[in-house]
Amino acid sequence: MTRLSRRSLARRPRAFAAAVLSLAIAAPAFAGPGDKAIDDVRILSADDMQGRAPGTPGSEKARAYILSRFAQIGLSPLGDKFEQPFTYAKRDGSTVQGTNLVARIRGMRGGKAMVVSAHYDHLGVRNGEIYNGADDNASGVAGLLAVAEAFKAKPPKHDVILAVVDAEEGGLRGAKAFVAAPPVPLASIALDVNFDMLSKNAKNELYVSGTAPFPFLKPILVKVATTAPVTLKLGHDTDADGKDNNWTNQSDHYAFAEKGVPWVYFGVEDHPEYHKPTDDFATVPQDFFKRSVATVVQASLALERELDDVAKAAGR
Ligand SMILES: [Zn+2]
Repeated sequence: MTRLSRRSLARRPRAFAAAVLSLAIAAPAFAGPGDKAIDDVRILSADDMQGRAPGTPGSEKARAYILSRFAQIGLSPLGDKFEQPFTYAKRDGSTVQGTNLVARIRGMRGGKAMVVSAHYDHLGVRNGEIYNGADDNASGVAGLLAVAEAFKAKPPKHDVILAVVDAEEGGLRGAKAFVAAPPVPLASIALDVNFDMLSKNAKNELYVSGTAPFPFLKPILVKVATTAPVTLKLGHDTDADGKDNNWTNQSDHYAFAEKGVPWVYFGVEDHPEYHKPTDDFATVPQDFFKRSVATVVQASLALERELDDVAKAAGR
């Protein structure tokens, strides 16, 4: 189905635009999964979160919001609580406490589990400027929450573990803590599906990396691409276009990769706001972001459906 974007709507003659608008009210422009994703990004990247640097009150505030969303969605922890604290040393020698938030949606059948990960930390405040990190990575957390909603609505066969991790920007610390003390044995994790920067692209393009090292994932994702509401491109997982364009080690999935856990990573190409104070809610193209969230939901459902074959092909 073709849907009109905000931009094309603006270019139409007024009468036609009004007709389209009334249609849009009857059936919202992009009524995909994750309608709350826009609110999630707006709230997580607001100035009062102070850029969500690990160990700060802004980080605590972000966690409180994410936990309120966990409760709203009806998620359960694996143990007695969602919070999984860990400590790490910064380059200057100081010790920081980070906190991952981990939830599980029980599968109807059990067996292997799928992890969905996204980091919630960002760069904090530097020289008096707040680095809000709307794309990096409030957008990925919003995507993860949308995936959780989708699995609650349509229970998975396998356990789905939701890992909202801390301190990615300081060296994948939260993801490394997760795999160092995993809530289930690592051998039972068939796949990590990681989201980092889902919301900004002028060409309606979202990348999925991981099909080069794990070719058995390719048919699943190629099929998703045929119906995805964005252009879902495969790549950025070899050195073919130079080391910098290989995203294998550039986000939390790498912590899983290092432990031999297969992974896929969803994210956009770099943009002018990357790691700048301008990466805030005002610069998020909302229509693309909704399409991007719908795409990662669709892909996550497909990967979970095929998880037994994925595990078998990966020798797990
Ligand atoms: Zn970043």
